[in-house]
Amino acid sequence: MDRLRSPGRKRVRGAYRKRRIESPPRFSNYKPSGVPRIELQQTSITLDEYEAFRLADYEGHDHLEASVQMKISRPTFSRLIEKARGKIAHAIIDGRELIIEGGNIDFSRGIHRCRDCGEEQVHAVNETIDDCPECGSEDVEDLTRKYLSPKDTKKETKT
Ligand SMILES: [Zn+2]
Repeated sequence: MDRLRSPGRKRVRGAYRKRRIESPPRFSNYKPSGVPRIELQQTSITLDEYEAFRLADYEGHDHLEASVQMKISRPTFSRLIEKARGKIAHAIIDGRELIIEGGNIDFSRGIHRCRDCGEEQVHAVNETIDDCPECGSEDVEDLTRKYLSPKDTKKETKT
């Protein structure tokens, strides 16, 4: 399963088409305050569920517009948004840790965040940012990378 080498990315056996995500979530992890993490149950939502939730409930798009943006069918979008809402509701009401992870997705844009000053740069998806333009720190985190599985990240890692 982790050896899909498809140059064109089309019609990979058994894989459904990648869903288009605007940019990586800025935060991937939420928990109720005052409860030690070890005592919490976890709920995870996939990036495509997150994106459906963001487009419909944060940006206010209707399901058709949002499905076009994600490059999926409208019924697929509707399933995603229902799942996302259900999971988020349970996380909030039951007091679970909510984690955003996984999903067969592509990003339209990347975000780098400076670990020193918190400055965020939104940029083209394969662009690398070495220094923070705000404070000059080299401790800059690529938010895109942490959501992509190794097979999705380009081998040419600049160090
Ligand atoms: Zn900085």
